[in-house]
Amino acid sequence: MAEGATITVSNLERLAQLQEMPKAELHVHLDGSIPAEIVFSWWQKLSKPILLPEKDRDGNLIVYSSYQDRIVSSPEELKRYWANWTKYSIPDRFGVVTEHMQTPENLRNIAKTHVLDLAEQNIVYAETRFAPQYSIFGGLSMPDVVKYTLQGLQQGMDEARQNGKDILVKLIVCIGREAKEDVGVQVAKAALEYQGMGVVALDLACYEPTFPPERHARAFQETFGTGLKRTVHAGEMMKTSHENMRNIYSAIQFLRADGIGHGIPLSQRYYMNGETDVLQMVKDRGIRVEANPISNLYLGFIDTPSDLHLDQLLKAGVLVTVNSDDPAMWPKGTLAHNLYVAEELYGRDAMLELNRNAIRAAFGLTDVEKKAMLAKFY
Ligand SMILES: [Zn+2]
Repeated sequence: MAEGATITVSNLERLAQLQEMPKAELHVHLDGSIPAEIVFSWWQKLSKPILLPEKDRDGNLIVYSSYQDRIVSSPEELKRYWANWTKYSIPDRFGVVTEHMQTPENLRNIAKTHVLDLAEQNIVYAETRFAPQYSIFGGLSMPDVVKYTLQGLQQGMDEARQNGKDILVKLIVCIGREAKEDVGVQVAKAALEYQGMGVVALDLACYEPTFPPERHARAFQETFGTGLKRTVHAGEMMKTSHENMRNIYSAIQFLRADGIGHGIPLSQRYYMNGETDVLQMVKDRGIRVEANPISNLYLGFIDTPSDLHLDQLLKAGVLVTVNSDDPAMWPKGTLAHNLYVAEELYGRDAMLELNRNAIRAAFGLTDVEKKAMLAKFY
């Protein structure tokens, strides 16, 4: 697995067409989508340096020869820091953004900036996500963090409409999975408070290897029998396909996932406990699969985007979609780039089907709205 691998775009004209095409995105992180130049400028305005972490991902102290060595001095350096997931922890890397998401004004502004950027990419429907547990260090409660973010999303949609770009954005509230069980429950309660007011689902995100899905079963149980949907990052970061599949299975079995983020080995026929066919389970329950080819490639979880076998998933009748994950954190990572990759591999019809699936699998649209959107844009 080649970490830092990027895609080759040989047909720039086609990429431009895909950038123009109306699109839907179901898996994008608010704090992973603000361009490094913008984030860097926030810190400059505060006259505060961005510092590399004191400890690595495993909690070991990092030795720096001087304080100067810790300073991230340009947007390019910031991108390199963000990209180095094997050395630095996810909360540290995203912390460069979330440190600014601590006041009502900043939460609104960041959410608005994000929506305007999505609209600029001609995304007509998006479900964006973030974890409110990282925005309570300035004294805000988690429900308030969700409330101000929703306000910012609405401001972004209003402003986009004034610019002639219609976009609908819903919110998925994530639990950063390293959180204690009780904190996870609080996140779920904050999400439930704003269900029907823009929040459409609860998610489990962040570092998968040491925090399996069942750790937050209690939080997910809070949503059982409510209108809130559930999606889970599972089957992305584990060392073996078996472990990845195990997490996908646990997410479905114990957290009642309606969506799986990543699910890298899903196309393989795999029998849990010798009898349950995981792929069949995904299909039978109408679980949506949120694939993120360029993210997986760049972080080194796959050797090539064809490892995801999205064509086989489509043929098997799985509701599979293509998404960007954290488009600001690596080069050529937008939704258009991801769809470009899908088209190169599987052809135009399959690419369009993958994007139509994002409308069909939307948590925040009624059947009537889905039908209208499919008729209007596809
Ligand atoms: Zn993700």
